[in-house]
Amino acid sequence: MQQVAGADHATIVVRIGAPATLPMADLRNNIDLNADWTARDLARIWHPCTQMKDHETLPLLPIKRARGVWLEDFNGKRYLDGISSWWVNLFGHSNPRINAAICRQLEELEHVIFAGFTHASGIRLAEHLVELSPPGLTRCFFADNGSAAVEVALKMSFHYWRNLGKTRKSKFITLANSYHGETLGALAVGDVDLYRATYGPLLMDVLTVPSPDCYLREPGETWAAYSARQFEHMEATLAAHADDVAAVIVEPLVQCAGNMRMYDPSYLTLLRAACDRHDVHLIADEIAVGFGRTGTMFACQQAGISPDFLCLSKGLTGGYLPLSVVMTGEKTYQAFYDDYTKLNAFLHSHSYTGNALACAAALATLEIFRDEPVLARNRELAQRLATSVAHLADHPRVAEIRQHGMTLAIELVRNKATREPFDWRERRGLRIYRHALECGALLRPIGNVVYFMPPYVITPDEIDLLARIATQGIELATCD
Ligand code: PMP
Repeated sequence: MQQVAGADHATIVVRIGAPATLPMADLRNNIDLNADWTARDLARIWHPCTQMKDHETLPLLPIKRARGVWLEDFNGKRYLDGISSWWVNLFGHSNPRINAAICRQLEELEHVIFAGFTHASGIRLAEHLVELSPPGLTRCFFADNGSAAVEVALKMSFHYWRNLGKTRKSKFITLANSYHGETLGALAVGDVDLYRATYGPLLMDVLTVPSPDCYLREPGETWAAYSARQFEHMEATLAAHADDVAAVIVEPLVQCAGNMRMYDPSYLTLLRAACDRHDVHLIADEIAVGFGRTGTMFACQQAGISPDFLCLSKGLTGGYLPLSVVMTGEKTYQAFYDDYTKLNAFLHSHSYTGNALACAAALATLEIFRDEPVLARNRELAQRLATSVAHLADHPRVAEIRQHGMTLAIELVRNKATREPFDWRERRGLRIYRHALECGALLRPIGNVVYFMPPYVITPDEIDLLARIATQGIELATCD
């Protein structure tokens, strides 16, 4: 028998003897079907992005099934997935179309080595991605998660210049407050202390320039004006270091893990022109913001630009399976295309590169974009997101509500006038997380920022529900 923290012996006996598919009625008989799974989990699993000691008091939720925007635990309690399960889910859990595509693929081919071999789903997916993405991105290099895509883009950029004989170009420029993943290269070009600081001694040196993060603009200053002003730092850094710099890497429009801070598309237009002028690559990490999240299919499109490398993952498979891709152009591709003995090839590889099931899920996801008016529907949903929380603009503990399409963030502060933040040790966001779970919603504030990033199949009523729960949570978490 498993030892279950906080449960009495009699309860444990009943629980373990119970069949796996107890009806909802058992909740009313006080049988907690979550607890056994939780105990077994905590005995064996080390979860990501978690101080495991928190789970002495914070419930860990075992999810039994999920449909659409709803997650359901083993007790039959439902949770509205307000953050698309870490920003990956686009068209709901257990989406019939994606399910069917994966099943079809499974009958044919689950996986095959992607070096020397290929498959129809990978080829179709690459063709589809090239059609959809900004002009000039004609080549797809697959990997299997977002961080790996960032590593690929960094290595490819560096290697490109090396193949051209420009061996000095080995540095990267990044924005303050940026986040690009957790592997050592991706972490090095990130700037969120919480994840980076400990590993500082292991990380390559990068050039970090101030962010265009518009939360920091002067009162009355427009997003565009502030973004242009902040661009001066980037221009100066490029001018001083271009000979040593391979690429600038940015998260277009939203610095998601960096407290959902946002900036104006005009920054990207300026950056594209400057990168061209200084002969430096532009890497757009759209792992979080790609596939309609900010209103356009890709955030770069709002600035009318094409990056040299476009990193995509998360929503690529509709939130089903790990897959990422780095897209680049012919010029890059040709710089590696040579006789083998020249040793110019890009030899980066992952065992699961181009996994056929993941490619099938991604294709089905892109077909939904092709067949349904997703972006138009998102515009209406984004408007509903805005109106659902508009009442919070005057809240004494809300400094700003900001939004790019289907991403909306509410910045909580101790003092609205001075914008003095809450001390991070108070963990105000965690109180909102707890409250939301009690009310049947998954909201996972980043520090003192509550945000909504729901699947695109959320209904207007569900948006209102999420907003009501967030509002109550904000009241409770900020009242002292
Ligand atoms: N880049 C950005 C902008 C991200 O938001 C993330 C993940 N949150 C990553 C890279 C890393 O992706 P993954 O978690 O799949 O490694």
